[in-house]
Amino acid sequence: MYSIEKLLLENRAWAAEKTADDPEYFERLAHLQSPEFLWIGCSDSRVPANEITGTQPGEIFVHRNIANMVIHTDVNLLSVLEFAVVHLKVKHVIVCGHYGCGGIKASMSNHDYKQVLNMWLRNIKDVYRLYREELNAIKYENKRVDRLTELNVKEQVFNLAKTSIIQRAWKKDERPDLHGWVYGLKDGLIKPVCEMNAGTHIDPLYEYDDL
Ligand SMILES: [Zn+2]
Repeated sequence: MYSIEKLLLENRAWAAEKTADDPEYFERLAHLQSPEFLWIGCSDSRVPANEITGTQPGEIFVHRNIANMVIHTDVNLLSVLEFAVVHLKVKHVIVCGHYGCGGIKASMSNHDYKQVLNMWLRNIKDVYRLYREELNAIKYENKRVDRLTELNVKEQVFNLAKTSIIQRAWKKDERPDLHGWVYGLKDGLIKPVCEMNAGTHIDPLYEYDDL
């Protein structure tokens, strides 16, 4: 059987199983979406948000891109963020990176990945530049990649805090809290690396004073 057909077959089996367990399951989900969490993760196929957190459909609103980046000109990310924060009123936003991230590794090379990928990876190089001294002092390359993964998550959490979307919600509703996590492909465990509770003050350069 072709693999694409298998997906559709598996889908039918899954839907039948869900309905057998709980006949109202789809009816209920179709009418209500009130997730508490927004997940900004890497597109890597080995890091599925629901599965690794033991959550069900309806519990996490998800955005994924290469190396879980929060880029202020990314209309896709910003639309997801605004919808989740302003309309769904999520209480937590999680940026989750992962060790062994291909995007992070690629950003540390000098290879030409051609225009669009070069453009994306440059944002990770900018993170490296901020922490160059610390990173260059790490002897082993894999350890350096792991550390950049953690630092990148931290910077993306800061990038969230710099948006007027987050700052306005902090001022109005005292939510959401921001969390930076890194997932381990080798042991399946999530390591929290940073946290910013609602209302945390950031570099005044980035704080709006007339929200
Ligand atoms: Zn990745």
